[in-house]
Amino acid sequence: MKPIAIVADSGIRGVKMKKPWFSEQLQAGLDYNLEICILASGSRGNAVYVSGGSTSILIDAGLSGIEIERRLNSKGLHPEDLDAILVSHEHTDHIQGVGVLSRRFNLPVFISSKTEKAAVSQLGNVRVIKNFECGSPFMINDLSIHPFSISHDAEDPSGFTVNQNGTKIGIATDLGIATSMVKEHLKGCSLLILEANHDEDMLINGPYPWPIKQRIKSRTGHLSNEASKNLLKQVQHDRLKYVILAHLSETNNTPQKALSEVGRAMSHCNTQLDVATQDECGALLRLK
Ligand SMILES: [Zn+2]
Ligand SMILES: [Zn+2]
Repeated sequence: MKPIAIVADSGIRGVKMKKPWFSEQLQAGLDYNLEICILASGSRGNAVYVSGGSTSILIDAGLSGIEIERRLNSKGLHPEDLDAILVSHEHTDHIQGVGVLSRRFNLPVFISSKTEKAAVSQLGNVRVIKNFECGSPFMINDLSIHPFSISHDAEDPSGFTVNQNGTKIGIATDLGIATSMVKEHLKGCSLLILEANHDEDMLINGPYPWPIKQRIKSRTGHLSNEASKNLLKQVQHDRLKYVILAHLSETNNTPQKALSEVGRAMSHCNTQLDVATQDECGALLRLK
């Protein structure tokens, strides 16, 4: 399917010579197609930086604007170089900083219209909104984005794949079940960010009230370590370089449990498995 072009409107940003170093990079030739950094992951805030070199976006911005700036800076990245923010769903841990960053850096916000309606009071006044539809691919400049529906207790929640020059990454967090459509979208990725929210025993025996346990376990809740393992079994392949487990519960999971359980799915020795954390940025990863 040919992507529908939704091009980030450069007019709203004035004439901007972004990334003075970029022309040097172009001349030298980029040695990667996509660069990724998970700035935060978990129920207290989520944000993923994705760049193709000439176009850089945030997928969700669920920390305060100032904290996202701080985390970008800590990796040598600059919010001034961002081109857009892409929103998965309206839960606060995904959109807390969207409005403020959008206003501060004149960033268009790509969001589905249903999610926009549900998020309107949290977003505040955003100058440029671009609505996408789950299932319909589109472009943000030269990044090809394919949003797909996921099962979660939000208005119109979305996972994403991002593709540049044939290098594809997939992001699927905040989903109660991995449908066959989700699996189809996640095939062929070089990097996957997969939810491994809870260990089922820890959740059942843990301190949460029963209705919340039920919500987390439901089809519109969050993926367990075991469900994440089963998903990975079906989408892994030889060229999958990184799997990063994300949105881990701080109460009902541990990084060790998530790595150990999901690690059982791994049958390709050149795939690296890691966890994303709430309080620290992950590594800046580059993919050819
Ligand atoms: Zn979340
Ligand atoms: Zn959510």
